[in-house]
Amino acid sequence: AISVRNLSKSFGKKRALDNVSLEIQRGEMVALIGASGSGKSTLIRHLCGLETGQPGQSRIDILDSAMQDGGRLAARARDMRRSIGVVFQQFNLVGRMSVLTNVLLGNLGRIPVWRGTFGLFTAEEKQKAREALARVGIPEVAWQRASTLSGGQQQRAAIARTLVQRSDILLADEPIASLDPASARRVMEILAAVNRDERITCVVSLHQVEYARRYCPRTVALRDGRIVFDGPSSELTDQMLVDLYGDNSEELI
Ligand code: ATP
Ligand code: MG
Repeated sequence: AISVRNLSKSFGKKRALDNVSLEIQRGEMVALIGASGSGKSTLIRHLCGLETGQPGQSRIDILDSAMQDGGRLAARARDMRRSIGVVFQQFNLVGRMSVLTNVLLGNLGRIPVWRGTFGLFTAEEKQKAREALARVGIPEVAWQRASTLSGGQQQRAAIARTLVQRSDILLADEPIASLDPASARRVMEILAAVNRDERITCVVSLHQVEYARRYCPRTVALRDGRIVFDGPSSELTDQMLVDLYGDNSEELI
């Protein structure tokens, strides 16, 4: 479902991505690891269309169907928005809105239409949003302002929004970086469950390698914008981690 070919990206003289090629099949759960500055976020921003590579150097087919619709850009952009759910480390939700409204915004991949007494969303969509919150284990916070949630709850609400969106792909850029270990495990378990049960392809960038080993069958490791490992997470050796993280590897293993 995701195919990246020979993607390079520079910021000034800095090569953030250097000839990256990557194939990810539908339903995979892939960890993206690498030291700070290795290019993880840049790659994820590419995958969700927030950034483009150098002309002619990259080809990213995230959505086969969207690519086949004759190149109508608006329709394609809309399909991309619907098909790809994104969870970031922070700033996932609109703080002053209720959690339920935030989750409902996952429906806006379609063109919003005013629907009489139901407002922007149908009763069925509201029901689905509540179910999604239950699915990620936080049904009780539906009417709270999003800004009042804990970090772990915010990440779970962001995942619920991608469920409402019915995305095929979930890209998460360090979704657990600012969480305590218990919340981090919970979020990873939910991602793994969503990957398994809804067959959503998950690409998750992580700092902590132990989580990659535990929750993601496959790991892609970046160093200085290049892929230096791509394979079963169980085959990551401690030596590779030392090569990846240098002096900081101790705290990551
Ligand atoms: P971290 O673990 O700290 O989040 P990362 O692996 O996500 O790091 P990126 O954010 O992808 O790394 O950055 C890769 C390189 O590209 C870094 O050297 C960074 O300074 C540079 N870079 C990324 N975005 C920009 C930008 N918008 N302008 C200039 N340089 C950038
Ligand atoms: Mg990053």
